[in-house]
Amino acid sequence: MRFDEFTAYLERLEATSGRNQLVQILAELYLAASASEMAPITYLIQGRLAPFFEPVEIGLGDRLIVAAAATAYGRPREEIAAASRHLGDLGSAVRALAPQPRHPSPSVVEVHRRLAEIAELSGAGSQAAKLERYAALLQALDPISAKHLVRITAGRMRLGIGDPTVLDALSLARAGDRSLRPLLEGAYNRTSDLGLIAATLWANGERGVDTLTVTVGRPLRPQLAERLPSPEAVIRKLGRAGVQPKYDGFRVQIHRDRDRIGIFSRNLENMTEMFPELAAAARSLPVESVILDAEAIAYDPESEEYLPFQQTMGRRRKQGIEEFSRAAPLRAFVFDAMYRDGTDLTPLPYARRLEVVTEVLPTPDRLVPAPLTVTDSVDVLTRELLDNISRGLEGVVAKRLDSPYQAGARNFNWVKLKRNTSGRLNDTIDVVLLGYYRGRGRRVEFGVGALLAGVYDADRDQFVTISKIGTGLSDAGWRELHERIRGLESERRPPRVRAMMEPDVWLEPQIVVEVLADEITLSPRHTAGMTADRPGLALRFPRIVSFRSADKRPEDATTVREVLEMFALQRAPGPGPQTGRSAQRQVR
Ligand code: ATP
Repeated sequence: MRFDEFTAYLERLEATSGRNQLVQILAELYLAASASEMAPITYLIQGRLAPFFEPVEIGLGDRLIVAAAATAYGRPREEIAAASRHLGDLGSAVRALAPQPRHPSPSVVEVHRRLAEIAELSGAGSQAAKLERYAALLQALDPISAKHLVRITAGRMRLGIGDPTVLDALSLARAGDRSLRPLLEGAYNRTSDLGLIAATLWANGERGVDTLTVTVGRPLRPQLAERLPSPEAVIRKLGRAGVQPKYDGFRVQIHRDRDRIGIFSRNLENMTEMFPELAAAARSLPVESVILDAEAIAYDPESEEYLPFQQTMGRRRKQGIEEFSRAAPLRAFVFDAMYRDGTDLTPLPYARRLEVVTEVLPTPDRLVPAPLTVTDSVDVLTRELLDNISRGLEGVVAKRLDSPYQAGARNFNWVKLKRNTSGRLNDTIDVVLLGYYRGRGRRVEFGVGALLAGVYDADRDQFVTISKIGTGLSDAGWRELHERIRGLESERRPPRVRAMMEPDVWLEPQIVVEVLADEITLSPRHTAGMTADRPGLALRFPRIVSFRSADKRPEDATTVREVLEMFALQRAPGPGPQTGRSAQRQVR
């Protein structure tokens, strides 16, 4: 497939916002592709060159793209920058200025390869080399293709194609309907690599996809926990269960294959560089290969106290990593093992997997097996819950001892229990910012007055609104927000957003914030959970508790299904007043 044929599909996708049409056009694109084109196409439509967990970046920001376009087209940089300001999009500016090339378009595989080569350049002098090669690539492309190349490079595709949409399109292309979705989704949960799945489906069919298994170096999508309102409800549902403390840290999936270490966040980002002390600990384990699931938490060696989530994450800034690993070293509580020395452990019962954890961690120091209390007693569970809360932890996670590791699933194999007051929400909600209203009064200074926030409708791969939020941030928090939203603003409603409300400015769904609210109520103005015969749901008295973008993608935000469940749960009685993460986390 030529790159200009590929970008003709992107043009059609750009002009569409209906989910079904998006799936249809994508399926047509896939049907026109050969097996070797499937992976590059799949990455490119999401503005990437490799799966999300591989830290491959082209490494050309807007300023450098402008410089490369100036070289390619022999125009002054200022002219390109001005056109970009005028059109509100650098891709459109490049399209307006690009001449028709003299040669036929290169293939989509070739463009992907050339971009990957540019991404690989690093070190002294690499910027000039990147610029030169990128300018040559621009010169080889027609105006429309150049527009899309620039958007891919800048990471601003904005086509509204989330992972579920890709899975549906693959199924539609192969089977004519969505019947392959469960098969494809299973492989996706085990490998997190849509490009690999697409290529395998074309090369080896459904059988091939079914045999894609857990592999060291490729993160599994994490198993997640359901909610229940009380210890009674947990014992009623699970019977005898394993109970562990729920640490309020940072989830890490630790992969080791001989000397190679990979540490992945909850949203599958490669974070190996950020956790040198965990990488070193993983390297010294008495195994050849292993995949562990753990919660990392910083602690103060002086006071031997654990630090809250925000401080654990303080090390995100590169220069702070060394300093942090000394002042507040991490300890990771390992609560699962999914792979060891060539064997996929995910089908084994939890009790056995936890035994493996203790086998591979003979001298717990930096990596510590999470303790487990086995009980079928409501009293014991209640005591564990209260005990952990009094130690400053979030609560407990109760696990079915005979359950397999179900990658990507949120079900009753794991149940989280936090303290709550009856009739009140006992958990925070992670919302995605979808737009804002301009500030009045003092907030004018920050440019944002109130936020329009939504949750994720996983069935439709869309974001739906649930609340307007105006409180919870300090002045510094508002300023930080102002920084974060830069570049995400849009005059039009983004394609994946379903809303009845109209903010002053729309935002590309990207920023995830954790909010605490008093209650979930019915609302005719919000689209979360809204159907033809039921109003939507809204949050009452929402306030922002923290930014979660560090470890959650927008699709990892709370889902409509969860909000509906929380709405039902909120009437159920639970123990004691509210505390836990919400009380511990501080927003700057
Ligand atoms: P939350 O904001 O409550 O962490 P979440 O969506 O990140 O929500 P949940 O499924 O609600 O994830 O809760 C499970 C999370 O709890 C895990 O992702 C992990 O980070 C954390 N956790 C802490 N201790 C444990 C434990 N012992 N077992 C499993 N998960 C744990």
